[in-house]
Amino acid sequence: MIQEKIQIPRRVLVVDDQELNRDILGAILEDDYEVLYAENGREALEIMRANDDLSLVLLDLQMPVMTGFEVLEIVRDDPVLQRIPIIVLTADKSAELQSLKLGAADFITKPFDIAEVVLVRVGRIIELSQGRQLISAAERDPLTSLYNRDFFYEYATRLYQHHTEMHLDAVVMNIEQFHSVNAFHGRAFGDEVLRMIGREIRAFLAGKEGIAGRYAGDTFDIYCLPQPDYRALLNRFQAAVNRISPNVNIRLRMGVRPYEAGVEPNLLFDCAKAACNRARGNFQNSLVFYDEKMHQRELLNLRLINDLRRAAKERQLVVFYQPLYSINADPPQLAGAEALVRWMHPELGMVSPGAFIPLLEGNGLIRFVDSFVWAEAAKQVAAWKKQYGISLPVSVNLSRAELLDPSLIDRLINLIRENGLDFQDYKLEVTESAFAENTEEMLDVVRHLQDLGFVIEMDDFGTGYSTLNMLSDMPFDVLKLDMKFIRNIEHNEKDQRLVNLVFDIAKTFGAAVVVEGVETDGQLEFLKQQKYGLVQGFYFSRPLPPEDFRALIEKEISIDRSGAGTEA
Ligand code: C2E
Ligand code: CA
Ligand code: CA
Repeated sequence: MIQEKIQIPRRVLVVDDQELNRDILGAILEDDYEVLYAENGREALEIMRANDDLSLVLLDLQMPVMTGFEVLEIVRDDPVLQRIPIIVLTADKSAELQSLKLGAADFITKPFDIAEVVLVRVGRIIELSQGRQLISAAERDPLTSLYNRDFFYEYATRLYQHHTEMHLDAVVMNIEQFHSVNAFHGRAFGDEVLRMIGREIRAFLAGKEGIAGRYAGDTFDIYCLPQPDYRALLNRFQAAVNRISPNVNIRLRMGVRPYEAGVEPNLLFDCAKAACNRARGNFQNSLVFYDEKMHQRELLNLRLINDLRRAAKERQLVVFYQPLYSINADPPQLAGAEALVRWMHPELGMVSPGAFIPLLEGNGLIRFVDSFVWAEAAKQVAAWKKQYGISLPVSVNLSRAELLDPSLIDRLINLIRENGLDFQDYKLEVTESAFAENTEEMLDVVRHLQDLGFVIEMDDFGTGYSTLNMLSDMPFDVLKLDMKFIRNIEHNEKDQRLVNLVFDIAKTFGAAVVVEGVETDGQLEFLKQQKYGLVQGFYFSRPLPPEDFRALIEKEISIDRSGAGTEA
C-alpha cells in the first residue's frame, strides 16, 4: 500500500464583502486549501489574530467597516501578523502600487483570471513566504524572532559599512535578576516575558531603520536611529512587560552608547553593554548612557586584568583578615576571621577587591586569586594554631565560578590536609545569589563539602532573592546578613523587624547568623538583644594585615587571661 503523504492543511483566508467573489475564490481554492472567509477588514483581522499560522490572505480593498488598505497598514506594523503574506484583490490598476508599498505580496485583478492562474499565484506566494521563513529560522532566535547573535553583528556591521549616512545608536537591554524570574515563576513564564519584549522591540522597529537581536538569554541588542527620549523607550518596554505580569515585579535596565563616527558596531555594543551593567541593581537609575568616565573605567579594568598575572607572581596580592566577634560573651569574644584579598598595585596603590574581583569572575582568572587566598588563609590558621594554641576559624570567599570547577573539592581537601587543619577551621562563603543561580549539580557539590565537615556560609544574605522554599533545599550552616540591613537599624523599625525575621529564619533552618557591617554602638546594642550571633564590622576592626591581626590575637588572649570584663 502506498503510504499517503501526511500534510498539514494550509489555510487561506478570503476577505471580500461580495458573496459572489467569496464563492468563486472558495471554489478555486477548496481542493488544495482549507479556506476561511471574512466579509470586511475588521473580521479579517480578528481571524488573522486568532490564526497566526495562516498561509495566506486574499484581501479585497473596497469593503465596508474597514477597507483593505487599513488592514494592510495595521498588518505592516504588527510584528506577528507581518509574517502572513497578503495578496490584494483589485479591479483598479492604480491601487496596485499603493498595495505593494503597504506590504502586499502580490495582487490578483478582478474579475478573476482563470482558476489556474489564481492557484499558481497563491501557491507561489505561499512557497516564497515559507522559504523566507525557513531562511529566517536560521538567523533568528525562535522565541522572539529577533536575530541571533552572529547574524545581528553581521547585519549591524553591514549597515555600518554600507549605509554610512545612517548614524545608529547601540542600545542594550537586560532583565534584572532574570534567573530568579525563571526560578520563581518557571521557564514558561520567563519565555513569555522574553517573547513579549521581543514583540515590543519588533513593533518599535517596524517601518524604521534598525535591527535587533537577542542572545545570552535575556540580553537584547537594538541598533537604531537616535531616539529623542530613551527613558520613554525603556518605559515603553517596561510597560509591555508589566502588562503580562502585573503581579510580578520584573525590571528592565538599559545601556546606550550613542553613535560616534568611526566606531564599529562591535565596540559600540561593548560600551552599551558596559553602560547596561552599570544600571545593574541600581533601582534609582535603570537607564545609563556610556560616557567618558565609563570609558576611563573600562580602560582601568582592562589594565587590571592585564596586570593581574604579574601581581600574583610578584606578591602584590596580600590577604587581610577581618575579625568576627561572638557577642554572647561579655566582653565580646574573638571568634574567627574572614580572609579578604588586597592588591598592592605598584602604580595604583591599594586596589580593593570590589574593583577587581567582579572583573575576574567572567574570565577564569578568579581561580588564580582564590587559590592564592585559600592557600594563604589555610597556612595562617595553621600558624595561629601553632603559635597560640588556639583554633581560630577563617572564612574564605568562593566565587560562583568555583562551584563549576570539578577539581574544587580536591583542591580544598588538599589544603586542609597539607596544613594539618580540621574541616571546621575553614569556612566557605558562597553568596546567596550564586546559591540561587546554581543548578542541582552545583548544590550537590556544596552538600558534599558540607558533609565533609566544611562550614558553609551564605554570604550577602538578603540580596539574592531566595524564597523560603528555595532556602530549604540549600545546604548552609550560617546566614551572613548583608550589611545594608543593619545600616539604619537604629532608626528604622522596619529594618529591625527584618533583621529579627532573619534570625527567626536562621533558627528555623538550624543555622547561625553572622551580621556584617556593624559600625556603631547602637547597632551593636540592638543585636545584643538577639542573645546570639556573630558580628563582623568596623566597630570591632577593619580588615587587618597579618601582622596587625597577630597583635589583635595577642591582645585578646591577654584579656582572656586577665579575666572577662576587665580591660587589658
Ligand atoms: P564580602 O565578602 O561581603 O566582604 C565584606 C566586605 O565588607 C569587605 O570589603 C569588608 O572590608 C567590608 N566591611 C566589613 N565591615 C564593614 C563595615 O563595618 N562597614 C563597611 N562599610 N564595610 C565593611 P572588601 O574587603 O572590600 O571586599 C569586597 C568584596 O570582595 C567581598 O565582599 C567579597 O565579595 C569580595 N572578595 C574579597 N576578597 C575576596 C577573595 O579572596 N575571593 C573572592 N572570590 N572574593 C573576595
Ligand atoms: Ca564574604
Ligand atoms: Ca558579605
